[in-house]
Amino acid sequence: MSEVSLVKKVRDRRRLNKEEALKLYELDIFTLGSLAGEIREDMWGRKSFFNINRHINPTNVCQDTCKFCAYSASRKNPNQYTLTHKEILDIAEEAIKKGAKELHIVSAHNPNVGIDWYMGTFSKIKERFPDIHIKALTSAEINFLAKSNSLSFDEVIDLMIKSGVDSMPGGGAEIFDEKIRDFICKGKVSSNEWLEIHKLWHKRGKMSNATMLFGHIENREHRIDHILRLRELQDITEGFNSFIPLIYQRHNNFLKIKKFLTAMEILKTYAISRIVLDNIPHIKAYWATSTIGLALLAQEFGADDLDGTIQKESIQSSAGADSASGLELEEFVTLIKNSGFIPVERDSLYNELNYPTIEKPHSS
Ligand code: SF4
Repeated sequence: MSEVSLVKKVRDRRRLNKEEALKLYELDIFTLGSLAGEIREDMWGRKSFFNINRHINPTNVCQDTCKFCAYSASRKNPNQYTLTHKEILDIAEEAIKKGAKELHIVSAHNPNVGIDWYMGTFSKIKERFPDIHIKALTSAEINFLAKSNSLSFDEVIDLMIKSGVDSMPGGGAEIFDEKIRDFICKGKVSSNEWLEIHKLWHKRGKMSNATMLFGHIENREHRIDHILRLRELQDITEGFNSFIPLIYQRHNNFLKIKKFLTAMEILKTYAISRIVLDNIPHIKAYWATSTIGLALLAQEFGADDLDGTIQKESIQSSAGADSASGLELEEFVTLIKNSGFIPVERDSLYNELNYPTIEKPHSS
């Protein structure tokens, strides 16, 4: 297909196949940006969504050894920790006082604590703070909990719902291509299991997100394959709220990548995600992995969501990201406004809550 026909097909909003999706990478960055921008604009206008959330990572002890990971306790990071429920509740309380409406709780696969510690975290938070939205347990964690306790995925999902988990994060997807996956995270949840768990979660009428870790040893074809597998599942379940391309962080891990993605390739990937995923409502530029500067630019390349203020983050920052202490709300909102978009505070399920205005203090 010629580039002209490809552009026309996108503008006509017709679905692209694998070859066409791959060919999008050959378009120049401005054409690609404007195609994705047009779709974003049709869907969301100039709105850029975010939420006031707090990430909690209760343990970094992990039985798995993903090569890209700098977070889990290992030779590169000898500092093991596992929080008690009291410590987690204190963090939750502090976050809620600061306005958090969502707790995003993701852990390593700790074989020493038992499933009751995981589920107890959620039920105790929910008991104390019934209105908080708990987004917790990736497919990888669910797979770990199921296998280490001889439970089915459905049984773990039952426990999650009973314990107050409201939605699932999209982590653990990495790259679905089995060969790449085998190399970077052998032993972790398989691609099919990842998809199956989300399917089961969606069957309960619950929503989740989907991620893709890119910029390591995968190539463009692997990214498109990943995106298309998500599109296929979304056609069946309609349970993904957003797609989050996560950029590989280069420090403190065992992958030893020498060549990193250019900003151009990253922006193209956001744009292609927006164009190809015609059935997933939101594309999130998760600033913890892209830097806030690139995330703001990604708004012009199809991204309509910048995640949130985060408050504190351990996973990406262990690998070099500048996200350890999150961003202040005022700064976050001002940055979105100054980049020409309309900041919209949303809840975890994308209901619009607030159009924040930042008042300048009067000088007297
Ligand atoms: S990415 Fe997750 S599962 Fe893999 S080693 Fe790190 S904490 Fe463990």
